[in-house]
Amino acid sequence: MPHTFDAIIIGAGIMGCSTAFQLAKRGWKVAVLEKDHIGSGSTGKSSAIIRQHYSNEVTARMALYGLREFQDFKERVGGECGFVRTGYVGIASAKDQAGLAANVALQQSIGIKTDLISAECLREIMPGVETSDLVSACYEPESGYADPHLTVNAYADAARRLGAQIFVNSEVVGVRFVSGHVAGVDTKADRLDAPLVLNCAGPWGARVARLVGLDVPINPCRVQVTFFRRPAGHEAAHPVVADFIHATYFRAETGNLTLVGLIDPAEANAIVNPDSYNESVGTDFVLDVGERLVRRYPAMERSQNTGGYAGLYAITPDWHPIIDELPAGSGFFICAGFSGHGFKLGPAVGLMAAEMLIGESTPTFDRRLFRFSRYAENDPVRGRYEYSIAG
Ligand SMILES: Cc1cc2nc3c(=O)[nH]c(=O)nc-3n(C[C@H](O)[C@H](O)[C@H](O)COP(=O)(O)OP(=O)(O)OC[C@H]3O[C@@H](n4cnc5c(N)ncnc54)[C@H](O)[C@@H]3O)c2cc1C
Repeated sequence: MPHTFDAIIIGAGIMGCSTAFQLAKRGWKVAVLEKDHIGSGSTGKSSAIIRQHYSNEVTARMALYGLREFQDFKERVGGECGFVRTGYVGIASAKDQAGLAANVALQQSIGIKTDLISAECLREIMPGVETSDLVSACYEPESGYADPHLTVNAYADAARRLGAQIFVNSEVVGVRFVSGHVAGVDTKADRLDAPLVLNCAGPWGARVARLVGLDVPINPCRVQVTFFRRPAGHEAAHPVVADFIHATYFRAETGNLTLVGLIDPAEANAIVNPDSYNESVGTDFVLDVGERLVRRYPAMERSQNTGGYAGLYAITPDWHPIIDELPAGSGFFICAGFSGHGFKLGPAVGLMAAEMLIGESTPTFDRRLFRFSRYAENDPVRGRYEYSIAG
């Protein structure tokens, strides 16, 4: 096994694999170390919704970059990502209409296809949807969802084809420094050298940061999703719906299923041990989100629940990631804390992180928003809504 690399990435989720792909494309000798298997963290359990709706220009631009990559995946990355275009509908409450309109205007100004639509228009797009509480909604016809397993493995394969090495079952247990600068990492079985190390450990991001004495506010939080089989007459796939009024999101899944999850800031309180938490879905959760779903999509009263699971969000205080070198000039970088909305950003984050490691002087995306010091400066990322995950 070769032991010297230009950069070592810790974690083979979408962030680690997409960054490895971008670095390898630029001729860098890269190693990705994964404690388990590719996509075994948040990525493999992602609902993988791809929408463009964000409150900040940089995140909206990143989401648009991601959409283009998912649409043209074979050409740009190779392999399959399973992108399904269903459209995306965002339903905000009456008090959030100004924010909704401002976000749509921002997105339109940077080339995202999105519009404010009326209740009548929404009923045409999604027959059977309940709209009596709706003032207006936003609609993105190009959005949809992807297959997270296909996607992360396609990035890993693309990186490998370009020379990157991915070591699975290889947990990083130490990061070595020489004179204050990164020199390499240790696994239980091996020592690998590199002047740059990138922490892409998702919900384990704070634990990996602690290996170098850093305390970063990234909590592993348990979240659940469940599936309902759509009844006769409603087999056709519906758009992705973010229903901020009932605090749920749902999207179609193969087999006439609808996947449902919560949009709830309180999910940040469900902090668990990421190595041992209850991965099953709870009955209370199924009943609760089932009721919320029926309020928006009454035909689901006749649906059948088909189970679900729990996964992990890596949640920061402002529900946005930390993408930074800590401390500056040390060669230790962090790219974690995507707080439940990172999948769609994965293609852009790979580029952003690669350019950060390379020291690109004119980066494609401005990563200032994600600097670690924003918390000490009391300048967190702010969205236009209270629904933190909406960004
Ligand atoms: C249920 C659910 C639904 C979601 N839905 C959406 C959605 O619809 N749209 C969206 O955009 N986002 C969504 N997300 C969020 C998105 O999936 C995540 O933000 C994204 O996958 C994070 O990727 P990552 O690479 O940062 O982390 P991860 O995928 O968790 O990867 C981190 C990897 O690091 C490895 N690792 C940890 N410690 C070590 C170590 N010491 N040594 C080696 N390896 C290590 C882990 O094993 C893991 O594989 C969802 C997440 C969940 C859980």
